[in-house]
Amino acid sequence: MTYYSLNKQAPDVSFQEAVVRGLAPDKGLYFPREIHPLPQSFFDNIENLDNPTIAYEAIKQFVGDEIPEQDLKQIVKEVMSFDFPVEKVENNISALELYHGPTMAFKDVGARFMARCLGYFNRDNVEKQVTVLVATSGDTGGAVASGFLGVDGVDVVILYPSGKVSDIQEKQLTTLGQNIVALEVDGVFDDCQAMVKTAFLDADYKNKRTLTSANSINIARWLPQMFYFFFAYKALKASEKKLVFSVPSGNYGNICAGMMAQKLGLPVHHFVTGTNANNTVPEYLKTGSYDVKPSVATISNAMDVGAPSNFIRIQELHDNNIDTLRKNLSGYSYTDDETTEAAHALYNNHNYTADPHGAIGYLALKAYLKDNTELHGVFLETAHPIKFLPVMPKTIADNIPMPAQIEAILHKEKQSIKISSYEELKRFLLQDD
Ligand SMILES: *Cc1c(COP(=O)(O)O)cnc(C)c1O
Repeated sequence: MTYYSLNKQAPDVSFQEAVVRGLAPDKGLYFPREIHPLPQSFFDNIENLDNPTIAYEAIKQFVGDEIPEQDLKQIVKEVMSFDFPVEKVENNISALELYHGPTMAFKDVGARFMARCLGYFNRDNVEKQVTVLVATSGDTGGAVASGFLGVDGVDVVILYPSGKVSDIQEKQLTTLGQNIVALEVDGVFDDCQAMVKTAFLDADYKNKRTLTSANSINIARWLPQMFYFFFAYKALKASEKKLVFSVPSGNYGNICAGMMAQKLGLPVHHFVTGTNANNTVPEYLKTGSYDVKPSVATISNAMDVGAPSNFIRIQELHDNNIDTLRKNLSGYSYTDDETTEAAHALYNNHNYTADPHGAIGYLALKAYLKDNTELHGVFLETAHPIKFLPVMPKTIADNIPMPAQIEAILHKEKQSIKISSYEELKRFLLQDD
């Protein structure tokens, strides 16, 4: 499989090179040259396949022969070591819970897959040490820290906005040690993201460090997220209803992976995106003009993204045509008050505890489905509500049991390095060479 840059000013690369580079030299995102639908027999038989088998079948064409079958199967099996339950919430609405992994947000799967791919490519230690540089608005940092912990040949440097991630999120990315370092940035997420982008374009690291990204711009972080949509289809296939997926979105990696699953032949009737006040994409769908804005802080902080990096991939998947896109995607945005109200309603009326991101997914799904009973809607519950305790309604927060993997880190001591400019980041990255 080869990958091309969506800026079209860089040469095609292999899977390995796309993973190691993260971003193409022309700053474009990589995209697969070819996408081959899976055979009908795969979908006919999906209920008899276990999750690692489904995941392997979905990902193998994107890896090609660069990781041998047995190794790729092993990687996928390790990545999939937890559940992805589909919980019924209303008659025609289910929640796909993606938070049963080690850091309790959906990013675990992508981070673990990418870490194992890099580990495989570095198996003989012939490659140079790779530095994974990642900006996080909350959940990416923890997932990447946990996924990459102890992987040989890889250093991880995480940038997060000081005071803008939850306590649990902060603990998850600042307490692991070993090959993981957390840089606490005096600024917002966009500042972190801008520093990371500047670093990737800075020639001064050449021959000193190989920098790569573990944000969803990296194909190894992004593509495995398509597994979820296959798992939900498997769980709901028997109902024989057409499926609508509602994905709470920030950088649009997750929903874009769902659209890739659809390209592989997964029967999806429609996609819905729910956002908070950072509503660039819903506004684009409404008005036709794509206006990137600075990000605004909200209670669903993992979606506080003003300039969604994967949207360009979504456009590519829809022939760069807004009408084609509108037929496949609807978008809605919500205030923090509406989000909290929805969490309340889910809890009181449907006995379901949703985090703020999931609550937005639910609201957007309701807005799209209205009273339609022909369709079955699935909203992605992207994080465990415990990760957002301080912003959850108190009556709900008090009743959320503490999961073991969170309890285990609460008493660990935070270790971070404060920085406030790109120069400080650069000094840090160049120091130990
Ligand atoms: C990252 C994240 C999102 C947004 O996902 P994108 O792929 O960036 O659109 C939504 N919810 C939670 C909990 C997240 O951590």
